[in-house]
Amino acid sequence: MNFNYSNIVLQDISPSWLPDNIQAAMLRLDLLHPEVSGNKWFKLKYNLEAAGKRTILTFGGAYSNHIAATAAACKLAGLPAIGIIRGERPANLSHTLQQAIADGMQLEFISREAYRQKGTTNWHTHYPDAHIIPEGGNNEAGARGCRDILSLADTSSFTHILCATGTGTTLAGLISSAMPHQQVQGYVVLKGAEYLKEQVAQLTQGTNWQLVHDHHGGGYAKTSPELISFINNFYRETKIPLDVVYTGKLVRGFSQSRFPPGSKILLIHTGGLQGNLSLTPGILTF
Ligand SMILES: *Cc1c(COP(=O)(O)O)cnc(C)c1O
Repeated sequence: MNFNYSNIVLQDISPSWLPDNIQAAMLRLDLLHPEVSGNKWFKLKYNLEAAGKRTILTFGGAYSNHIAATAAACKLAGLPAIGIIRGERPANLSHTLQQAIADGMQLEFISREAYRQKGTTNWHTHYPDAHIIPEGGNNEAGARGCRDILSLADTSSFTHILCATGTGTTLAGLISSAMPHQQVQGYVVLKGAEYLKEQVAQLTQGTNWQLVHDHHGGGYAKTSPELISFINNFYRETKIPLDVVYTGKLVRGFSQSRFPPGSKILLIHTGGLQGNLSLTPGILTF
């Protein structure tokens, strides 16, 4: 299975807060596919290839973009899929999980404690045939798929490449494929995620990169009225929708950071817009 990448565009942006001596553009991975949007596809593609015709088994929380993308991609590829979901089954399923079920994914809810042990659990006892993809697609195949992102457009003239970082898999793929004159920066969306430095270094040999830890906005999936209004203003000025967990924090973090005059900044829009469906309707203007 493969996608037609022609929907993905490289779009110049000039929001009002951008300094005159800095150029910026966004690589719109969010336009890839309505459900398999963004970086998740690139992390999945070699993982799905390795599965052959086996059932895919993977992991995530109730709002996980990875669960949403895996369910939709497996449906398109005709592969059976099992989602191991963190926490007891709630009375009302999130939009993400309802859509995953509609896409044919079988869900199994496990306690938070059991979820923490998932890395050492022998899933093959219950699912002998399954091909296991780690949470967030965080493995070598995931990072390898993300090496293709920078060749979706001519990105050679950018001085800095910025992406939102959760597991660091996408960042690792970008680092491995960036040119020597390019600095790659991961804007971390989790609080206190110092372990990421090691985790990223295990997936790439590159050295031109940094993690930026000051823009998680209080921690993973924490929002604020200020973040929401930043996202709404950015949409008004650029017509680009951002999500509240990842890309909103990336772009807001970028707006609060300084770069040398003449820098050309490439922001990777990693998608994830399905996550906005968990917000109170109407608080985002798009
Ligand atoms: C999952 C996700 C990320 C984080 O990607 P990692 O490879 O885990 O660092 C960034 N942006 C969006 C929209 C995501 O869904």
